[in-house]
Amino acid sequence: MENQITGHTRLAALFATPIRHSVSPMIQNTAFQELGLDIVYLAFEVGTDGLKEAISSIRRLDMVGANLSMPNKILAVDYMDELSEAAQLIRAVNTITNDNGKLTGHNTDGTGFMRSLQDLEVSIIGKKMTVIGAGGAATAIIVQAALDGVKEIAVYNRKDEFYENIKAKLAYISEHTACTITLHDLANEVELTLDVSESTLLLNATGVGMKPMEQQTPIQDFSIIRPDLAVYDVIYTPRETEFLKQARLRGAKTANGLGMLLYQGAAAFELWTGQEMPIAVVKPIMENN
Ligand code: NAD
Repeated sequence: MENQITGHTRLAALFATPIRHSVSPMIQNTAFQELGLDIVYLAFEVGTDGLKEAISSIRRLDMVGANLSMPNKILAVDYMDELSEAAQLIRAVNTITNDNGKLTGHNTDGTGFMRSLQDLEVSIIGKKMTVIGAGGAATAIIVQAALDGVKEIAVYNRKDEFYENIKAKLAYISEHTACTITLHDLANEVELTLDVSESTLLLNATGVGMKPMEQQTPIQDFSIIRPDLAVYDVIYTPRETEFLKQARLRGAKTANGLGMLLYQGAAAFELWTGQEMPIAVVKPIMENN
């Protein structure tokens, strides 16, 4: 049965731009309805100039909270009363909770990634992983993996501005967790081969493989892929990038970014409601959109 909107109904929101393509409203509203929760989730076109006001409205309207996308995720850090440990290390917020006017910034992108590994039946706790990429998605994943107990992370990026920007950040994350993190030039194939040979998981956290780079792959030599390696791509459009296809053809277990997307939403839902998102109901919506 559809829930009725009443004078008691509370609001959760997505503040982002562009926003109309987002599947989050469908996912969150389906979950609220399924559990009979009196909350609605709406998407608002909010860019960087309107963000401060939009965040104030969370307090003013006694909203449940909000989700943010880039670049709002970074700017929102300055408007929070408190930050979760992950958000503080990542310096980006994708979920805001409202506790009687106290706004806490969380980052569930990394938690979403870590939880999606259960579906892949891969554990990286106490082990080593190799990450290609040094942008927002990579940083969120690296931080959560380090907080959750991954032993070692080898990060590879081409020598662009992301490479320079992440140097100090990785040192800071490593200092504040028990994880050893090293940064390498993606062009160094000898080092990459060695790191991948010691890794349980190889991750693409760049946009290489997505439009307009759908013919490209983040690595060129696929002989480094072995059947007992898990290979993950944060990209979910297309569902199978050329990188994942090549890994699958070499017998590796593979996953695209849909699981990360699903579980970052589930983690936000759980922060807002204290209840588990009904994954079985929500998953098909995501897969078909
Ligand atoms: P970003 O702009 O912050 O980082 C881009 C990264 O890609 C950098 O490391 C950059 O050096 C690298 N890169 C770009 N072009 C490259 C090239 N030609 N060769 C090698 N490296 C290149 O972006 P982001 O927010 O980190 O997003 C990266 C990808 O992750 C995107 O495809 C995005 O859709 C995806 N993503 C997925 C989820 C999810 O839930 N599955 C969440 C966030 C982002």
